[in-house]
This record gives sequence, C-alpha cells and structure tokens, in this order.
Amino acid sequence: MAYYCSDCPRKCSALRPDTVKGGGFCGCGDLISVAGVMAHKWEEPVLCGDTFTDNIFFYGCNLRCVYCQNYRISSPGLFPESKLKVYDDKAFGALLAELDTSPGKTIGLVTGDHFTRQIARAITPDVKAAITKPLVYNCSGYQSTEALRLLEGRIDIFMPDFKYIDSRLAAEYSHAADYPEAAKAFIAGAFEAVGPASIRPDGIMEKGLIIRHLILPGAPDNTLGVIDFINSNFRPGEIVFSLMSQYVPVNNTPAANFPKLARKVSGAEHRKAAAYLAACDNITEGFTQDVSSASGDFIPDFENL
Ligand code: SF4
Ligand code: SF4
Repeated sequence: MAYYCSDCPRKCSALRPDTVKGGGFCGCGDLISVAGVMAHKWEEPVLCGDTFTDNIFFYGCNLRCVYCQNYRISSPGLFPESKLKVYDDKAFGALLAELDTSPGKTIGLVTGDHFTRQIARAITPDVKAAITKPLVYNCSGYQSTEALRLLEGRIDIFMPDFKYIDSRLAAEYSHAADYPEAAKAFIAGAFEAVGPASIRPDGIMEKGLIIRHLILPGAPDNTLGVIDFINSNFRPGEIVFSLMSQYVPVNNTPAANFPKLARKVSGAEHRKAAAYLAACDNITEGFTQDVSSASGDFIPDFENL
C-alpha cells in the first residue's frame, strides 16, 4: 500500500507507491524488489557450514556507497527492471518457505535496509513459525531504531555492517554523516533483540549478532575506531565480529573520483587491523579475511543468474 516513507535515517518523506519504483533516496516503491536469489558459499562459516546460505539480494539501497561492489543492483535505474523479481508480502513469505527446503544452512536477507517495513509485514507469525532455518538480516547498519523494532521476533541473526565511526568518511563515501550514530544505535538495538550469540554443535549460528567491518584503503583510523567501539561495548563471546579485506575498486562506480579508493587494501593495512583486533580482550569470536579475498571473482553476476 502506498505510503510516505521515513523508515530509515534519510527520512525522505517520499511517496513509495505500490510499484517497483519510489521517489525516495533508495528509489524503491512498496513492492519488494529482488535482484537475485542465490546460493552463496562465501559468507561467514557460521552461516554456511559445509554448504551455503541462500541469499536474497534486494534491489536499491539507502546508502549508495561510492565504492559499492554491487552498484549494478544498489543504484536505482542501472539494473534492468525486466530482470527484477517482484513480490508482494504473501509471495515473499512463500519465497522464504521455498528456500527453507534447500540444502543451505541459513537464509540471508541482504541489504534490505530500505525494505524493513515490507520484510516485517511478509514474515507473519505463521511464516516465521514454519521456517526451520535461521533468518539472517544482513544489512548496512543505516537503519532507524523504529524500523528495527518491526523486525523483533522475526529475525534470528542480525548481521549489520559497521562501516564508519568517522562521520566525515561516512559523508564522503556514503552521503550519510549520521551513519556512525545510526549504526551504533542499530547495533545496540539488535543485540537487545536477539541477545548473545548462540552457535549450535554443528557450528551453525542460530541467533545473535554478527558485526562486519570492511577495511577501506587509506582509512586505518576508521577501522581501529570501529574495533575499539565493539571491544568497549561487548563482553567476550557476546557477538561475532567479521573483519573484511575484500575491498576491490570496481570500474564505473563513483569511487573513480576518489584516488584513495583506487587500490586494494595493502598487506600492511590488513596486518595492522588484524593485529589490533587480535589484541582485543572482548572480541573473542569472529573471522578475519585474508587479503587474497580481494577479488572481483567474488562479486555476484546478478544479470546472468
Ligand atoms: S527507506 Fe528509502 S524512501 Fe524511506 S526514508 Fe529511507 S531512503 Fe527514503
Ligand atoms: S550499503 Fe552495501 S549495498 Fe548499499 S551501497 Fe553500500 S556497499 Fe552497496
């Protein structure tokens, strides 16, 4: 149903009609638009185990980071509308039920920060009760606490990014100087919603919070600040932290205008961040990507699914 949207911190107040396209920053209407559904084996091991996670990649984004590796689907207008999969609430619930029968260990809702209301509507108590696998809300962290409340009881694992603690960087790269405060509030609220991490004997996470941080080239203090924040706000074992080094410059993104983003993360930058993380007493569960993970080969090809 059409509404004026202030669901995320952008607070556009823009009309989201009962269609694919809408007038706000994310560019999306009220229908749930999906660029691709795919088995993804490169997510964190606690989500994939010996198989994979079934990821649902939403169309559009409320951040539009200049370096986005998925810019073909996150920038409204670039992805062919004819290739989108469009769902009303009932059909989206049916998609979740279908994925529940796959060999994948978990179901991931990827960057649906601008579809929180729609996702919450689709995961009715009956839909949730019928799904046996953990539902993972894999998001940018740029969310309002009001929207987060809509997801309580519907999501088992929150997996927000914590991209920036430096608001100047957030403004420069994601047009969102308020990102650090929004992400901190989201992380606190998500932890309240799901509690401490719980991992089954088979190694699959069944509930909790995974916080991801992508190291950006030339921004070491931002990374260390994010790690400090997590280390200061959680106790050992409470959350899982994932330090990612997979940044690669992607042709055709606005990052071409940012010389600092024109290279991968260096070995020295990676080692400094990994050593800093390893020395944190309160971050005891998690993953650190190797710099060899920085390859365009891992970027999904949505248009040829
Ligand atoms: S979800 Fe989209 S339309 Fe709504 S406030 Fe955020 S960017 Fe604007
Ligand atoms: S939040 Fe993620 S999907 Fe959205 S623009 Fe940034 S990197 Fe891309």
